[in-house]
Amino acid sequence: MLIDTHAHLNFNDFRSDFDEVIKRSLAEDVWIINVGSNYETSKKAVEIAERYEKGIYAAIGLHPIHVKDENFNASKYRSLCQSDKIVAIGEIGLDYFKDYGLFKEKQKEVFLQQLNLAKELNLPVIFHCRKAHNDLLEILRENQTSGVIHCFTGTWKQAKEYLDMRFYLGINGIMYKFDLKEVIKKTPLDKILIETDCPYLTPLQAGVERNEPVFIKYIVQDIAKIKDIDFQKVAQTTSQNARNLFRI
Ligand SMILES: [Zn+2]
Repeated sequence: MLIDTHAHLNFNDFRSDFDEVIKRSLAEDVWIINVGSNYETSKKAVEIAERYEKGIYAAIGLHPIHVKDENFNASKYRSLCQSDKIVAIGEIGLDYFKDYGLFKEKQKEVFLQQLNLAKELNLPVIFHCRKAHNDLLEILRENQTSGVIHCFTGTWKQAKEYLDMRFYLGINGIMYKFDLKEVIKKTPLDKILIETDCPYLTPLQAGVERNEPVFIKYIVQDIAKIKDIDFQKVAQTTSQNARNLFRI
């Protein structure tokens, strides 16, 4: 079994065939957490999860880059949480990839509101962070929570700080663009979660353009290679990690 802890089958790229994609995944014993990025995609993630008895879950949240197009309304998100398929608040965080100027303050404000929601609902958090690790670390030092730093691309020094605060690191196909060898090698296997971030970040080996959960096996293969351990060990440990964090 493998668990893709960060997928977006709730996005338009999968509008016409998410059901087939999910069936393919479940047939290969790959479980999926679909992650929301605004209210609409969060709602869709919940709707998809509700269609399946087992193996498909949802996370809900307002992504930092969407803070500019949606006013965060905690009660709307709270009402989605009636579903027991919701396993996390996410993806939420900070994104300074472009120079957003004053918009940074707005991102921080909405991020803190969502951290409070996670605390209130006793849910772990899926963090999105681009070019903002110092600010994220500062906020997390003051707000105790559990969760995963999704799509980690920071340095080993930053990784170590998250690990010392007991967070997991999410590893995906960004490893084919950034050199994450040192981070992957030094991070204990029991602190790694695997993810596709599909439809994005397709592993080269997949041979198609659109990523999907069954391609998670390539991430496992490459982590196994870097850590010089076998595939099954990575599969079992990362699945257990996901089950522990998301209580599934
Ligand atoms: Zn994502």
